[in-house]
Amino acid sequence: MEIKILKGTHQIGGCITVIQTRTTKIIVDFGEDLTQEGKNTFEKKELLKEVSDADAVFITHSHLDHAGLVNIIPKNIPIYMEKNTKTILDIGSDFRINKPLSREVDTFELSKKTNPIFVGDLKITPHIVDHSSYNSCMFVIEGEGKKVLHTGDYRNHGRKGKLFSSTLDAIGKVDCLITEGTALSRHNNAHYKSEVEIEKEAKEIMSRYDQVFVLSSSTNLDRLVTFYKAKRNKKFVIDTFTAAITKAIDFPVSPKNEDIYQWTPSIYFKIKTEKFKKKYMNSEGNYDFLPNYVMLIKQSMLIDLKKLKKAGLVQNACLIYSMWSGYIEKEKGLSSMLDEIEKMGIKIYELHTSGHADLDAMKLMNSKLTPQKTVIIHTENSENCQKIFDNVINIDDGENILL
Ligand SMILES: [Zn+2]
Ligand SMILES: [Zn+2]
Repeated sequence: MEIKILKGTHQIGGCITVIQTRTTKIIVDFGEDLTQEGKNTFEKKELLKEVSDADAVFITHSHLDHAGLVNIIPKNIPIYMEKNTKTILDIGSDFRINKPLSREVDTFELSKKTNPIFVGDLKITPHIVDHSSYNSCMFVIEGEGKKVLHTGDYRNHGRKGKLFSSTLDAIGKVDCLITEGTALSRHNNAHYKSEVEIEKEAKEIMSRYDQVFVLSSSTNLDRLVTFYKAKRNKKFVIDTFTAAITKAIDFPVSPKNEDIYQWTPSIYFKIKTEKFKKKYMNSEGNYDFLPNYVMLIKQSMLIDLKKLKKAGLVQNACLIYSMWSGYIEKEKGLSSMLDEIEKMGIKIYELHTSGHADLDAMKLMNSKLTPQKTVIIHTENSENCQKIFDNVINIDDGENILL
């Protein structure tokens, strides 16, 4: 069996991994780069050449650094992804967050009983894993007597974290581990805060304000639960996009709940296609949630906040910024939005925990799987891995590893 990381050995995001036997070739993830800073050894033309003779492509989760380039994959090559991952990408394209899938994909469901998918002489088994994208999975890939785990993005401090240890036990020993190593470059912390700890802190902050705005990702459904649980007796208000996702995947926190209100930010009135209007703009929601509420907002919704402020409906308010702090430095629009919010007299708090594995989770992974070889991807600093993983193979994008 052979492994080749096309992209990801020296950058966070833009992950693409080739795993092949003598007769079968699959690719795990087909993501776009998060930044222009990564060392892009492989350009689109070369990626297309690599994928052209693949037997299938498997996607770990809906984040675009793992799924963002699927449209360049030729239509005759099957793409497999989890059912809700596809739903999230489809809704994201309706809301113009990502490009629409230009082709059919094969979907699978994650259940307690793991169901393998067979491609040529490879057996691929998806396992649900805790991450900041709903129903993310890891893949166990077996062939030619070897067993590989590709982790995708993972953690064990979120709401599905309890599954982590037993999933690793079920997987057992592997010949090769391909693991994300985001935390190796971003933080030196051994331990990240759990969603439950975030919930406690949110509860305390929210208790001091009448209106609480929350800036977080609509696809980070763990965080949605965190703030829903922390709101106490306030009304909970979600925007059209978040409502569409939670309804489509039948998530327990959705506008079906009596204390959850849906509202339509002005940005969505700009999408004028009949399909969009019919599907998502059939309910404008209402303002029955006033005056004490927790409202999920996006960067594009500053104008709506200003309207609420003008109408005297923002009196004793705060905003909880609940995403990676690096976005504030990287995205000028976001930092100027936060400046404007502050000028409106709204106090800003940062409250977040990573969607990625902390060092404790990585150590647990290493001790349970005892891999013969470990390859670190999704990192800018794989050199820091020596204290955590045994048998690390240091490679660059495009190099082959023979198992
Ligand atoms: Zn990622
Ligand atoms: Zn991710």
